[in-house]
Amino acid sequence: MINNGTLTKISIKKSEIHGLGLFAESNMPKGEIIAEYIGEKVLGEEGDRRSIEDDNPFIMSLDEEYDIDGNCKENLAKFVNHSCESNVTFEVKNGKMWCIALSDISAGEELTTDYEMDCHELLPCACGDDICRHYMNHPEDIVTLKKEAEEELKKVSSAKA
Ligand SMILES: [Zn+2]
Repeated sequence: MINNGTLTKISIKKSEIHGLGLFAESNMPKGEIIAEYIGEKVLGEEGDRRSIEDDNPFIMSLDEEYDIDGNCKENLAKFVNHSCESNVTFEVKNGKMWCIALSDISAGEELTTDYEMDCHELLPCACGDDICRHYMNHPEDIVTLKKEAEEELKKVSSAKA
């Protein structure tokens, strides 16, 4: 069994943010390793192909060469939803991807991470946090993407006129 020591501490439940989410079943101190992001190790090119052609949202970059395809049922960490005020992060250690507590987490809390999506379109966020930046994109990309969207809109409306 994978992640034997950690499986009892987390569970999958209906989330207020999106679909199903991953929840803490016990208190966890900051820095705690919560779960491994389990999946098939594939070459980066194959990871890109799966994410684009197969619309697979569970591809994570492991290093310069490899990705992990977390789209398997053993991978509970794939249920971590996005939030702008996140309490977990994903880090690579010893060639594996781990879900790690960013702050002290109480039993019952939903585990969330900041996706900081590297994407060419704006992806709206529904996390509802006080500090919500309204998009799941990387904060540095949002300004540029917003400008692009506005210019696109101008083009469309001037073409109509
Ligand atoms: Zn948000």
